[in-house]
Amino acid sequence: MSDCSTTKLKEAILEKIIAYDRIIIARHVRPDGDAIGSAHGLARIISLSFPEKEVIVSDQDKSDFLAFLETEEQDPDSVDYKGALAIVLDTGNVERISNKHIQKSRELIKIDHHIDNTPYGDISWVEEKRSSTSEMVTEFLYTFRDKLKYDKKVALLLYTGIITDCGNFKYECTTGDTLRYAAFLLDEGIDISTLHAHLELESFSYFKFQAHVYEKMQITENGVAYIYVDKEMQERFNLSKTQQSNSVDMMQNIRGSLIWIAFIDNPEGDIRVRLRSRFVPINSLAEKYSGGGHANAAGATVHSVKELKALVKEADDILKDYKAKNGGWI
Ligand code: AMP
Repeated sequence: MSDCSTTKLKEAILEKIIAYDRIIIARHVRPDGDAIGSAHGLARIISLSFPEKEVIVSDQDKSDFLAFLETEEQDPDSVDYKGALAIVLDTGNVERISNKHIQKSRELIKIDHHIDNTPYGDISWVEEKRSSTSEMVTEFLYTFRDKLKYDKKVALLLYTGIITDCGNFKYECTTGDTLRYAAFLLDEGIDISTLHAHLELESFSYFKFQAHVYEKMQITENGVAYIYVDKEMQERFNLSKTQQSNSVDMMQNIRGSLIWIAFIDNPEGDIRVRLRSRFVPINSLAEKYSGGGHANAAGATVHSVKELKALVKEADDILKDYKAKNGGWI
C-alpha cells in the first residue's frame, strides 16, 4: 500500500506528534469537505490518543454546508504558537493557509495531495496522486491503529473528506486504497444515508437556480461549457457561497464538453474561477490566471469580463488541440 519513504515520513510525523505538548492544526481557506475532514479528523485522533496534549484547530473562515459535522475552531489571534507543532492539511501553498500566524510555530508539518509547486514545512508528506488528504490521514491512522485511538466521529470526518474530494468514488484519483481506507472507516458505523442527505439536499430556490444555470450556460465551438454567476444572480436566488460554487458541478455531464468553468463574482470585486475537466489537464491554464490546482480541478482569479472571455478562449484552444491529438474522449 505504501513504500518505504512514506512509511518513514509517517513514522517521523508520529514521533513529532508524540514529542509536542501543544499541536495547532490548520487547513486551506474556503474549506471544503477534505480540508475540514482531514484537519478535524487528525485533531480528534490526536486528542483521543493523547488526552494530555493541547490540540487546537485554528482557522479564520467556515463552510456552511459542513456545519452538520459540528467542528469547532479557535481564532488564530488567540493561539499561543510558541513552542508548538503545527500541522497543515490539504493546503498546497503557504498563501492558501487559513491561519496566517501558523508559521510562528516551532515546527511545521505539511500533509497534502495537491501539486507541490512551492514546498513548505519541516516535514512534508505530499502525495499528488491521492484522492484526498483525508485518505492520507486515514492511512496514517490505519498504519498506527494499534497506537492511535479513533471513534465514529473520526470516521465520519475522514469519510466525508474522502467522498467529497473524489466525487463519491467517481473521479480518476479513486484507487483501490481509496476504497480500502473508506471501507475501514465505514466499519466504524457511519450512517451514510444521513451523511449523503446532509451533503446533497438543497432548498427549493436552489433548484430554481439550477434551472437558471442550465438556461444561461454557454458552450464554445470546441465544447467548453461555462456560466457567469454574477452579483445579480447571486442576489436573485439568495445564494450562499457554497451554492454559488456548486454551479460548476451542474455542467459536469455534458457529452463532448471536456472542460467546464464557473465564474463567480467575489464581494471583493474580482471574479473567482472554478475549472473542471475530463481527460484534458487544465491546471496550467489556471496557473496563468493567478491560480493552480489539480489536472482536472483547478481554481483561478480574473479581474474583468474581458479577462473572463480571454480565459474561455484559451480553454477553447486547449480543448481544440486536445481533441485533434487524442481519441477516446467522450
Ligand atoms: P476549487 O475550484 O476552489 O474547488 O479548486 C479546485 C482545486 O484547485 C482545489 O484543489 C484547490 O486547492 C485548487 N485551487 C483553487 N484555487 C487555487 C489557487 N488560487 N491557487 C492554487 N490552487 C488553487
